[in-house]
Amino acid sequence: MALTICPWKYDKTWVYSITYDEALADLHRFAIPIHEECGIPGHVEVVVGQLGEMRDLGNSSYNGYRHMNADELKALLARGWGVGNHSWSHELIQPDMVHRELGIAKDALEAALDAPVDLYCAPGNNANMSSHVLEACRKYGYLGAMSLTDALNRPSEPLFWLNRTALHDHYYAPFFSEYDPFRNIRHARAEQGWIIDYCHCPLETPIHPNKDCSHLQLRKRFETIRTEGGDKVWCAVPEEVIFYHLTRRHTQIETLADSETQKHYRLHLNDLSDRVTCRTLTLQADVPAAWCRTPKVWIDDHPHPALLTEPRKLQITVEVTHGMELIFGQSY
Ligand SMILES: [Zn+2]
Repeated sequence: MALTICPWKYDKTWVYSITYDEALADLHRFAIPIHEECGIPGHVEVVVGQLGEMRDLGNSSYNGYRHMNADELKALLARGWGVGNHSWSHELIQPDMVHRELGIAKDALEAALDAPVDLYCAPGNNANMSSHVLEACRKYGYLGAMSLTDALNRPSEPLFWLNRTALHDHYYAPFFSEYDPFRNIRHARAEQGWIIDYCHCPLETPIHPNKDCSHLQLRKRFETIRTEGGDKVWCAVPEEVIFYHLTRRHTQIETLADSETQKHYRLHLNDLSDRVTCRTLTLQADVPAAWCRTPKVWIDDHPHPALLTEPRKLQITVEVTHGMELIFGQSY
């Protein structure tokens, strides 16, 4: 196959996202300005039953902090952030609770934001990733579910158990640890991995050292992502990565012609969910050197510039459609 789809957008080697559980208004104090400075978008996980209210949940370390309201969340969306459902109640979700925690919560959040909510994020611990919960996630139309397992995500893996890297000051006993701004980065580079960091609300000191980092530690993490990642890391909200992942996995390439003068392909988008609203792919074609002097591809009869990434390799990043035709060739 001379035309291939890159594992990640722009043919980046690895991917970085970060999530903030509970969507607290105090993110405005440090985290959001640091994001603005670095140009990395973030993602907040909302306890829908307490939207805009002071947190009051059992003995939560975050009680007394205020959850963002709908207008504040919309403002984050406008900055390029994403919003997920962190359940209605933040309790252990029993089988008879899935309608409220996953169905009603999703509807209410989408109505408040006037925007789709495609991600579920397990509250508490992985008990909220049980089979009845994940089954309900699929039923209610989510595209993915985020866990509390500290591991990478890979281009070949399904999306209903996304792993997250705990960006915490230190870990629970007996596994005491030191804050590591390099955590999982080398691993991600070697494995074409996707890191999703997870913390709550970085302030001067971590609100809870096993659940959070400080704002200086957060800044150090971003600096490390940038210096270690350079132009090889794709920083994006989880939804954008999921859209890419699903579009790639549901696209089939048909070769219509492969001659000395032309390579002609048609794309088929098979059973791709309507909820995938951004269908961008990065495609790479192997072509003769003679076609690389003015790198170009004809997409549905319109010329588009292509990128010469290495000898005989042309690359394009394009919004794809079902039946789209691409032609590379000498005469073009
Ligand atoms: Zn939580």
